[in-house]
Amino acid sequence: MNSLKPLNEKTALITGASRGIGKAVALALGEAGAEVVVNYSNSPEKAEEVVAAITATGGKAYPLQANISDESQVEDLIKKVLERSSHIDILINNAGITRDGLLMRMKTQDWKDVIDINLSGVFLCTRAVTRPMLKQKSGRIINITSVVGIIGNAGQANYAASKAGVIGLTKSTAKELAPRGITVNAVAPGFISTDMTKDLDAEAILSAIPLGSFGTPEQIAGAVRFLAIDPAAAYITGQVLQVDGGMVMG
Ligand code: NAP
Repeated sequence: MNSLKPLNEKTALITGASRGIGKAVALALGEAGAEVVVNYSNSPEKAEEVVAAITATGGKAYPLQANISDESQVEDLIKKVLERSSHIDILINNAGITRDGLLMRMKTQDWKDVIDINLSGVFLCTRAVTRPMLKQKSGRIINITSVVGIIGNAGQANYAASKAGVIGLTKSTAKELAPRGITVNAVAPGFISTDMTKDLDAEAILSAIPLGSFGTPEQIAGAVRFLAIDPAAAYITGQVLQVDGGMVMG
């Protein structure tokens, strides 16, 4: 099974793969033949469901719990992946949260939580995979940012700052790792139907989306899949690919 699939023998770690976009990315990379590490924070049953969905179709996957904002948990996560799979070829930094509120009333803890998970988590996971990827002289890292990190959003100063930070981190890391054949790119979704957006006022948002609808997790997974496995993407690094229905142009 999977002998002709493009990701045979590759191991892909996806942070926050129990739900939403991360789940769709895990399924897409599993379908493509990668061994998928399904990271999660608080949803063991949902992570097991993702693993079961991949293995049911002949793919390979296993779950690993870790809070990606915790340095020792991240080091332990990567150690476990290397023990079990012996290499790590693809890292998708997807895990993220929102703690929305107007700046004037934003609690310091809400600022810190969002920066810790959305930005420092990407730093910690990226730093932890750098050594094994440098040794392999190959690797693809894809960071899930947001169009909000490009244009800002009232009520999301913490989230926008974290996602703008991810873009700067992506470009700097891309420059550092390019000499060893490792690419680092970001995907910037617009509004995607997941738990994160389920309480938003869709009517108010739709008028700002030229294509007239929210995107799906599978549409983000398609862009990630291209950057993670397509041979043509080997010459793309340090880029931000917007998948937003035309919300942000130029
Ligand atoms: P979601 O449905 O709320 O899922 C979030 C995922 O992140 C879950 O799997 C969750 O795990 C995991 N997670 C949260 N905190 C974590 C931590 N500390 N350590 C490890 N995993 C953690 O979110 P989503 O909409 O799929 O968003 C995924 C990414 O896309 C995020 O970075 C988000 O900012 C970005 N994004 C989303 C949209 C959108 O419209 N949905 C737009 C732009 C960007 P548990 O299930 O265990 O809690």
